[in-house]
Parts: sequence; C-alpha cells; structure tokens
Amino acid sequence: MTEDPKSLSCADFQAQLPDLIGAGENVAIHPHVLSCELCRALLADLETIAEAARQLFPSVEPPEDLWEHIESALQHEEDRSDLK
Ligand SMILES: [Zn+2]
Repeated sequence: MTEDPKSLSCADFQAQLPDLIGAGENVAIHPHVLSCELCRALLADLETIAEAARQLFPSVEPPEDLWEHIESALQHEEDRSDLK
C-alpha cells in the first residue's frame, strides 16, 4: 500500500499532527488539511489555543506535553457537547 497523505482519515491525520508540528512541518499546507475542511477548522482552533498559551507563558518554550494538554482540552469540549 502506498501512503497518500490525502487518503488519511481525519483520525489518522490528527494522530500525526503533534509529530508533524514537533518536526516543524507547516501543517497548514499538509495535503490532508488542504482537502479537509474539518481539519482546517481544527487547526484554526489549535492555533488559537497555541497563541493563547504563548501569551500566558511568553518566556518559556512550549512544553513537550503542550499538545497533550490541548488534546485533553479538546476531549473535554467533546465531552461537554455530548451532555447537551
Ligand atoms: Zn480531516
């Protein structure tokens, strides 16, 4: 099987996202993002959160586990929307 980035599922892409960002990839131009509105919206949310984190902690490097915090924050959002 060849690995076509456009054929990634959203879950697969999002699982790779921390690695891609950690590797310094510009995920905004990732083929999956270009072809997937859902993940574009997700990225916009993540950028907002990351920007807020930079403003909260301007003098420190983002911790290794920042993305885990973001992921669990998103998880909480999903949990909340389930309660409606
Ligand atoms: Zn997607």
